[in-house]
Amino acid sequence: MKAAPARPDVVPFIAVWSGEQKHRRTVVYSGHGGIAYADEAPEDRDQHGVLWDARAEGRGTGRPQYGNVHPTRQRVAMQYLLCQVCGKPADRDDRGVLWLIENNRGDWKGWPEGQMTTHPPVCLPCAGQAVEMCPHLIDSSVAVRVRDSEACAVYGRMWSSSAFGAPVRTANAEVVSYGTTAARWVLAGQLVRSLHRCTLVDLQHELGTRR
Ligand SMILES: [Zn+2]
Repeated sequence: MKAAPARPDVVPFIAVWSGEQKHRRTVVYSGHGGIAYADEAPEDRDQHGVLWDARAEGRGTGRPQYGNVHPTRQRVAMQYLLCQVCGKPADRDDRGVLWLIENNRGDWKGWPEGQMTTHPPVCLPCAGQAVEMCPHLIDSSVAVRVRDSEACAVYGRMWSSSAFGAPVRTANAEVVSYGTTAARWVLAGQLVRSLHRCTLVDLQHELGTRR
């Protein structure tokens, strides 16, 4: 008997591949306060004027680096509500877009209303596959339908002014809201959405209704 073909590794859409090198860019003071690239181009900033980390794009080249998130693909997935695993549109019904978020029930009254996350939403097939491969997700995560969400912040490395004539990278990575002074000093790596009009749902039930 032939062995069943091994399940191909699922490499999330937002994961970095080893062939996608970081671009070495010189960071300087911006004329408007905060940081800029010495060779900055308009596409280096988002519509809120925040500077983004730069990395080559070559999905599928080399080996996947599961722990690292590709700034451009994460941003696209978050901006357009694409599934973080396959990059196709996330699942949506009349209760909103499907998200799998860390189970932080009890963090505050009304949780997860207002929860901020760097993890883009998911589609049903990928949610089902994720739970099949990692059954612990059923306990550690919560499925939520989200009617409204706002791209309100970025997550990235903070830079600061120095006595050496150029800004310096700090050890801190932070979530920084758009429109704040700190947003001029962050090198964004991930887009953050806040989740609103949330309905907690049972993932097994969600999967069952579409199969
Ligand atoms: Zn998917």
